[in-house]
Amino acid sequence: MSEPGRLLGPAEIRDLAELLGVSPTKKLGQNFVLDGNTVRRIVKTARVRPGQTVVEVGPGLGSLTLGLLEVGASVVAVEIDGRLAEQLPITVEQLQPGAPLTVLHQDALRVTELPGDPTAFVANLPYNVSVPVLLHFLEHFPSIRSGVVMVQSEVGLRLAADPGSKVYGAPSVKAAWYGRWRTAGQVSRQVFWPVPNVDSVLVAFERDEQPRGSDELRARTFALVDAAFQQRRKMLRQALSGVLGSSERATAALNAAGLEPTARGEQLGIAEFVALASVAPDVP
Ligand code: SAM
Repeated sequence: MSEPGRLLGPAEIRDLAELLGVSPTKKLGQNFVLDGNTVRRIVKTARVRPGQTVVEVGPGLGSLTLGLLEVGASVVAVEIDGRLAEQLPITVEQLQPGAPLTVLHQDALRVTELPGDPTAFVANLPYNVSVPVLLHFLEHFPSIRSGVVMVQSEVGLRLAADPGSKVYGAPSVKAAWYGRWRTAGQVSRQVFWPVPNVDSVLVAFERDEQPRGSDELRARTFALVDAAFQQRRKMLRQALSGVLGSSERATAALNAAGLEPTARGEQLGIAEFVALASVAPDVP
C-alpha cells in the first residue's frame, strides 16, 4: 500500500528547488507537479506493474519518479538539467531507500541507448519538445509497448485525433504509425509549480503488435505526411507535387494507391499514407 510520506509534497518541492538554486525555466518546460493525487492518477492510468521497467523523460525534482517507484517499478530517468539529475538519486534514497532508479543526465532527444529495455514510457513532458521526444523514443526503443504522458491539451488532442478532425495533423499520423492513442483526462493547471498558462491532458498509447513496416518505409511515409500537412488546404495532387516530382506524378501515385488525387491530407489515415509511400519508392 502507498504511504503519503513516500512522495514529495508541495513544501518539500519548493524547499528542494531552493536548496538546489533551481528557479524553473520556461526554456526547459519546467513545471513541477505538486499534487500526489495527480502523480498516482498518472501511474494508475499507465497500469504500471511491480517489476516493470519504466522510462521517464524529465523527472525534474522527482514527483512522478517517486510515484512510479512506489508501485514497484524500476525507473530509468532521463534529465537534461544537471542539478536535477544529480539530486534525484539522493531524494529517492531519502524517501524510498533502495528503490531501483537509474538517472541519465542527457538530452532525451539524443538518447540512443537505455539500460533495462523499458517496456513503458511515463512522463510529464517538457511542453516545447513533447512530440519530438515521444516520436524519438518510439522510433529508437521498440521495447516500449505502452505509455502515458502529460502534455499541453492542444498537443494531446492532436496526438489522439482521427482523420477529418480539425486538430488532425502531422503528429497525429506519425503517432498512429506506432500504435493507438487516446486522451485519458484533463489535468488542472493548479497542480503545477509554477502554474503554466496552458491546460494539460493525459494521453495514453499502446504500441501495435506488428510494426507497420521498415524504417525506410517509415521515413518515406513521414516525408509524405510532412508535405501533405505543410499545405493542408491544398488537394494532395498539388500538396505532394514537390515531394513526388510533379502534380502528374503525384496524381499517378495517388491513383496507384487507390486514393483520390483531389483529397486533402487531413482526410487520410496512417494506412492510406503508408499505401501511398509503398507505391512511391523514390520519395527522399
Ligand atoms: N516530472 C517532473 C514533474 O512532474 O514534476 C518534471 C516535469 S517538467 C514538465 C519537465 C522536465 O523535463 C524538467 O525537469 C526539465 O528539466 C526536463 N527536460 C526539459 N527538456 C528536456 C530534454 N530535452 N531532455 C530531458 N529532460 C528535459
